[in-house]
Formats: sequence, structure tokens, C-alpha cells
Amino acid sequence: MAQTAGAARTFPQGEPIIQCQGVHKWYGEFHVLKNIDLSVAKGERIVICGPSGSGKSTMIRCLNRLEEHQKGSIIVDGIELTGNLKNIELVRREVGMVFQHFNLFPHLTVLENCTLAPIWVRKKPKAEAEEMAMRYLKRVRIAEQALKYPGQLSGGQQQRVAIARSLCMSPKVMLFDEPTSALDPEMVKEVLDVMIGLAEDGMTMLCVTHEMGFAKSVADRVIFMDRGEIVEQNTPNEFFNSPQSERTKLFLSQIL
Ligand code: ADP
Ligand code: MG
Repeated sequence: MAQTAGAARTFPQGEPIIQCQGVHKWYGEFHVLKNIDLSVAKGERIVICGPSGSGKSTMIRCLNRLEEHQKGSIIVDGIELTGNLKNIELVRREVGMVFQHFNLFPHLTVLENCTLAPIWVRKKPKAEAEEMAMRYLKRVRIAEQALKYPGQLSGGQQQRVAIARSLCMSPKVMLFDEPTSALDPEMVKEVLDVMIGLAEDGMTMLCVTHEMGFAKSVADRVIFMDRGEIVEQNTPNEFFNSPQSERTKLFLSQIL
């Protein structure tokens, strides 16, 4: 990809699947998202970083209406997120989400975790849902654990199941909120490897993560947030080698 030395580039460079314009959100009096403009192209891989409390989780949770914004517009795959429940449901079908703490259903097996939504939301026949689930469980290299319960798996294995479960809904976009932060160090790589595989297959991904190695090798764009704002965004190369704002420089000096 062509890069302009020093200068921030214009993003994205393809057809957008997500468009946020002038998005604001408040928690009560607290202004948590301030005038967020964000356009994401199909197939783009974005890493979002920034200090704790800067609004990263809130921002990506707004993209599937786990949080609601109060001002501005968010359009996902042509559907605007408003109070309209039908639209929310449509968008949630397109957008998979993986959380820090996996959020698997503890009383369901790995396989049942993966087939629940396809059967009940997508109305897939059980056999078809199970076949697809096994395909994705193989892809995250955990098919042999399909009949176990989440509590019988390691954190890394549970997170891979959570990714497979999302993929079973055939999402157009995947959101990751610090998917490796709760893992023991030796399990981080197995989850990142699955995410790298997804990126190589062309999945549109927004990942909140502090894994800067992942950002450097996989991201098309790194976004830095601070105090509810997008302060800076650039290609990983430019972002890490010539950060523009003082806030970005400070953040990078603390984590690298
Ligand atoms: P990050 O993911 O960057 O750490 P968050 O989006 O989780 O940041 O939170 C941004 C700010 O909003 C923090 O100050 C946090 O305390 C606050 N916040 C998050 N969720 C809520 C909530 N449900 N109610 C009130 N304040 C919240
Ligand atoms: Mg967060």
C-alpha cells in the first residue's frame, strides 16, 4: 500500500461498510465519545489503541448498538443504527463481537455455543448448523473439544471457541475488544494466530488491542483514541515511526 511520509492519510481507500459521522455519546453527564468520524472499508483491518478509559470499548460497542449514541449517525452495511429494533437486529446479524472475557454460555457445550444463534436466529436446521460449527471449530483448531463445556477449557481455547461462535453467524464485520487481555501470556499467540488467519481471509476487522506486534503486522490502519476522541490515525508504519500528536507520542512511550 502506498504511503505518504509523515502526513496522515485519508481513510479508507475502498467502499465503506461502516460509516460513523459526528458521533457523540454521554454516560449521564460524562461525554464519553466526542465527534467520532470513522469510515471503514470492506476488508479493512483496524487496530484501535489508547489509554484505559479513552472510550475504545464504548466506540466499538456502539457499532452493534450494545451502547447507544445520542448524536450523529452510524451506518453499518447500509443500515442506520437508530432506536429502530429491526435495524438493530439486522446489524447485529452482520457484526460479530469477541469480548475480553469470552462470554460463552457456561451451561452449553462448545458445539451448542456455536449452534445456538444459527438455529434460533438464522433458523438453520440443526444438522446444518452443527456441520458449519464443526467447520469453524476445526478452523480455530479446537474441533476435538466440541462436546466439552467452556469451564473445561483453557482461556485461550475458550477465546478460540468464542471466535468460532461468531463466525458461525457469517458476519461481515468482526469486532474484538481486547481479546487477549485476560489470557495467560502463553495463550495469547494461539488467539492472535486465529485473528491473523481471519485477516488473511479478508475479514473486515476492528480490534481494540494492546498487541502492537499484531497491529504492525496485520493492521491497515491504527487508530489512537484519547479522552473520547480519535486523536490520530495512520498506517502502522507511519503511526509507530512518526506519531504526530504529543498524546500519541506519550502513549507509545509508555507501551513500547
Ligand atoms: P476503554 O475501553 O478505552 O478503556 P470505555 O469505553 O470502557 O474505555 O470507557 C470510557 C469511559 O466511560 C470510562 O471513563 C468509563 O469509566 C466510562 N464508562 C464506561 N461504561 C460506562 C457506563 N456503563 N456508565 C458510565 N460510565 C461508563
Ligand atoms: Mg475497553
